[in-house]
Amino acid sequence: MSSINNKITQWVRPEIRALSAYHVPSSADFIKLDAMENPYHWPEAMVEEWLAVLRDVSLNRYPDPSPAGLKASMGEAMGVPLHEGSGMDVLLGNGSDELIQMIAMTLAQPGRVIMAPEPSFVMYKMIATFTGMGYVGVPLAEDFSLDLDAMLSAIEQHQPAVVFLAYPNNPTGNLFDREAVKAVIEASPGLVVVDEAYHAFAGDSFMGELGQYDNLVVMRTVSKMGLAGLRLGLLAGPSEWLAEFDKTRLPYNINVLTQVSAEFALAHREVLDGQTQQISADRELLAAEMAALDGVTIFPSRANFILFRVDAAHEVFESLKAQGVLIKNMGADSGPLAQCLRVTVGTAEENTAFLQALEKALKQAL
Ligand code: PMP
Repeated sequence: MSSINNKITQWVRPEIRALSAYHVPSSADFIKLDAMENPYHWPEAMVEEWLAVLRDVSLNRYPDPSPAGLKASMGEAMGVPLHEGSGMDVLLGNGSDELIQMIAMTLAQPGRVIMAPEPSFVMYKMIATFTGMGYVGVPLAEDFSLDLDAMLSAIEQHQPAVVFLAYPNNPTGNLFDREAVKAVIEASPGLVVVDEAYHAFAGDSFMGELGQYDNLVVMRTVSKMGLAGLRLGLLAGPSEWLAEFDKTRLPYNINVLTQVSAEFALAHREVLDGQTQQISADRELLAAEMAALDGVTIFPSRANFILFRVDAAHEVFESLKAQGVLIKNMGADSGPLAQCLRVTVGTAEENTAFLQALEKALKQAL
């Protein structure tokens, strides 16, 4: 079958061949603390009510291509300023991943650049590659704050079509300084996307700044609010920008099960909010207990995960795995994420199991 390989070499774009596919490890039977998911289920009565709603869904029909009701409830739930005359609109994506892709497809041209601080969410760079754009990562300062001077000179030099700022940032967990973010928006010739995937745990937002700038859009997702399986993200911003992105959207990108389930879940916001508050409170407990362990440095988090450094990250990660706890190994021997691991805040029981396993892992790694 060497002819297949020849064809692949001939036809698949070299930058795609050079990629390794986004790796999602198998997690069956693990305590799963690797993917920033909400660990909680819904109360049984709510599940029953939801199943009754699903019974009436017409799977034989295409979904509503632009579900006005869901857009309105998502906009309201996310605090988008959608009042008359605001000039703002919302666009829904199959997860915020798809919104990043739609933005890139809309702006892509050879020679154009996507910019983001580094380390940050890996899909910004991946999607730049998929869409044939250049990518410029600007290193964060040592404490993972935004290096504003470096950002401003990179913006000046590369004139990025779009800058992505994750607020809070993944994988570092911190919020960038608000004034520094504003300075980036003001200095950027193109679009700035403030990616608020972890907003539910952050207590701060740029949603209120919409309308102040002609190049700002704000992105949210329901994934970290307990609905990762639905795949639903929201982009909020000036309707002129969103109308252009909407042209690259596949017609039925939000499937019918997601549409009705999201409407249902948003009508039960108090359940989701209760879970989120629990996770935020548990993050503080977990952070304090981790910080008290010898050989662990934690980085302050405003998200539902904690980045931490140990002396031998690979050994600690493997030991945790052998003990049935799956977290994320940032996989770096050097650089800003050297010897760093990232744990998602789980249920109180999961966090305790993780802490016990971590203590054992640290002893083994000595
Ligand atoms: N933005 C950031 C900063 C993220 O960390 C993630 C997911 N890990 C996403 C976006 C993608 O979220 P979604 O599930 O909505 O595609």
